[in-house]
Amino acid sequence: MTNIILLGPPGAGKGTQASYLVETRNMTQLSTGDMLREAQANGSEMGKKVAEVIARGELVTDEIVIGLIREKIAEGAEGGFIFDGFPRTLGQADALAALLAETGLKLDAVVELQVNDEVLVKRIVNRAEEARAAGKPVRADDNEVSVRIRLTEYYKKTSPLIGYYYAKGELKSVDGLQSMEEVQAEIAEVLG
Ligand code: ADP
Repeated sequence: MTNIILLGPPGAGKGTQASYLVETRNMTQLSTGDMLREAQANGSEMGKKVAEVIARGELVTDEIVIGLIREKIAEGAEGGFIFDGFPRTLGQADALAALLAETGLKLDAVVELQVNDEVLVKRIVNRAEEARAAGKPVRADDNEVSVRIRLTEYYKKTSPLIGYYYAKGELKSVDGLQSMEEVQAEIAEVLG
């Protein structure tokens, strides 16, 4: 069993790589973004509460996302967990460490996908345009204004985690500007 964190700014390709790991390694993807969007779609009280925050591109409270992750970890995962979009703050990182310790799980690696901002904004804006053209739903936060806020949130609150995991000897950085297949291969190498 392998447990990893996928770290990187919005649009870095975390979701794409997570899907590949789910298929090839029988791992379980825990995406807090997906969980929050599900809560909105179900019309739950929590979903309604966070909808505007998400649409603006800001982070929801640690308490909410830690609660979501706690429930999922309790369910267990045969092939291990891929934490995608969590942790996003140092508080969340500490909470995750405590949850893993409680459950007797070990973190095997923190894989950082390195990319540059202009590529990110283009990727996300293109993703929205493609969805619109195909008549598919477009995420409320996939517009240029919210993307810029998501990036600022990333640099302010999430990027400190790179130093945090580096200091713990757990960080593995991968060039996220390579092709999807090249990134897959590099992650496979990191995971052994
Ligand atoms: P992306 O990585 O493309 O920005 P996500 O689907 O991971 O998208 O997250 C979408 C939004 O959901 C975030 O901008 C934020 O509002 C909220 N969110 C997701 N995960 C977290 C988290 N761990 N902590 C706080 N907010 C989160």
